[in-house]
Amino acid sequence: MSDTLFGRIIRREIPATIVYEDEDILAFKDIAPQAPVHVLFIPKHEAIPTLDDATPAQAGLLGRLMLAAAAYARSEGFAEDGYRVVMNCREHAGQTVFHVHLHLLAGAPLGHFGTP
Ligand code: AMP
Repeated sequence: MSDTLFGRIIRREIPATIVYEDEDILAFKDIAPQAPVHVLFIPKHEAIPTLDDATPAQAGLLGRLMLAAAAYARSEGFAEDGYRVVMNCREHAGQTVFHVHLHLLAGAPLGHFGTP
């Protein structure tokens, strides 16, 4: 289990607003939302610091993070309007928590991105 902030959220050592959970995945609201909807999807049992550390054996788990985000978007009624998923990897992307996580952003038109 990862010894990061998100590991502590998984272990319920610090509070979070959990919006989805299954056997492998936990999803909770980002504490500093960058959009009206900002939810983080994380693996519960595998300590993967960054996307660059993931192995082919973890492809299914990473895919399930995406599908969990898509299912959440449908269940909350904003799938048709659209949304963005983002996974930051290391310093140049601004990654701050080294427990791999997928950001789901939605609820308003999102600005363009990718420029330094
Ligand atoms: P990243 O910058 O991609 O590593 O994303 C880490 C995210 O975790 C940021 O968007 C933070 O706002 C968020 N975050 C940090 N601490 C917490 C917390 N205690 N509960 C929920 N989200 C958090």
